Amino acid sequence: MDFALNDEQLAIRGTVRRFVAAELLPREAGFLRHGLPRDELRELQDKARAFGFWGLATPEEYGGMDLPAITRSIVHTELATTCVPFRFGGTADNILFHANAEQRAEYLVPTIEGERLGCFALTEPGAGSDASAIATTARRAGDDWLINGQKTFITNGNDADYAIVFAVTDRDTRGITAFLVDRTAGWTSTPIATMGSWHEPATLFLDEVRVPATAVLGEVDKGFELAMRWVGAGRHAIAAQCVGIATRCLRMAVDYAGLRRTFGRAIGSNQAIQWMIADSETELEAGRWLALRAAWDADRGADARHSTAMAKLYCTGMVGRVVDRALQIHGGMGYTKDLPLEWWYRAVRAMRIFEGTDEVQRLIISRDLLRGHTRIGGHVA
Ligand SMILES: Cc1cc2nc3c(=O)[nH]c(=O)nc-3n(C[C@H](O)[C@H](O)[C@H](O)COP(=O)(O)OP(=O)(O)OC[C@H]3O[C@@H](n4cnc5c(N)ncnc54)[C@H](O)[C@@H]3O)c2cc1C
Repeated sequence: MDFALNDEQLAIRGTVRRFVAAELLPREAGFLRHGLPRDELRELQDKARAFGFWGLATPEEYGGMDLPAITRSIVHTELATTCVPFRFGGTADNILFHANAEQRAEYLVPTIEGERLGCFALTEPGAGSDASAIATTARRAGDDWLINGQKTFITNGNDADYAIVFAVTDRDTRGITAFLVDRTAGWTSTPIATMGSWHEPATLFLDEVRVPATAVLGEVDKGFELAMRWVGAGRHAIAAQCVGIATRCLRMAVDYAGLRRTFGRAIGSNQAIQWMIADSETELEAGRWLALRAAWDADRGADARHSTAMAKLYCTGMVGRVVDRALQIHGGMGYTKDLPLEWWYRAVRAMRIFEGTDEVQRLIISRDLLRGHTRIGGHVA
């Protein structure tokens, strides 16, 4: 068994690490005060593209890097060591790759190029964890479809110029279809104020929105499988991001524990502080291997659902505990907006909710065992 990264993985990690140090860390203070404007993000993405970092998961035929899941996991971890919410350009929702040739030209390619912004609209006021219970409908009107309903907590929903909307198209069989719906077709949105200023979710309103038959993504009544594919794919990245955030917070905590003095000595000389550091390091290491392990399953073509659910469940809880301890070690300073800790403290809380809550991950893991799909601890074989 070899836990070492290979030369290519080390080289990519080194490049991303240098990019974070040179381009992102100096922008942290500005981000904490007034966010990251979209044109600044675009500028950074162009800079990264110039040295080849563009479209991490995007196939080479679209100019992407098409990196293996483990390498992407390493990249996500490095980028998450700063609170500046940078992501490399050249990406699109994975389900857009299931689009037909015309739709790829109209939605996929411009999205990869950063000319269009989409959003993934599944959740509704009455259906979140139980996404199959959505009430939005699409009914035929000649060759067109008329869509009615409401979507909520949709990331980028207020800025997107098109939405991938899931609607019930067969009430009897509960058939669900995915539609590509331009904002110009008539849907409206309103932002939702949340605890962390991350992901900018919005509510979408669709009132007799008319779309042509060509708006169907994939097959009629087969949209739910597409939706589940989208949700599953993001969980890897979330686990890896948690590892990056926790790494930075622990680093800050260790540094501060050595510098800050009370009662004539560094606070790090107290067992209370040492135990917080030890617990964070241990949990972080466990999370790192769960995240890489899930990525490894994906790379070798194994069913990664089980290991990804464990990685997402554990890492999102782990990062919350590590951020909390780091904030505690910084005392009053940790609570200020001068440091990224309070921002992370609020932001990471959402990670236990979106892309499947803690409880949904536990359902997946326990069901796999109870139904005999997975042997206890035996999914390595
Ligand atoms: C910041 C943010 C961004 C988001 N982005 C998107 C997006 O881009 N697109 C999109 O479609 N959605 C998005 N969502 C929605 C997200 O996927 C849902 O919030 C999530 O799936 C939970 O659904 P819910 O909020 O309706 O909670 P509910 O499903 O109502 O659950 C409420 C509570 O009950 C628990 N629970 C539910 N069922 C069970 C069960 N069977 N057993 C035990 N416990 C259970 C849940 O775990 C939770 O604790 C986003 C949410 C947030 C917060």
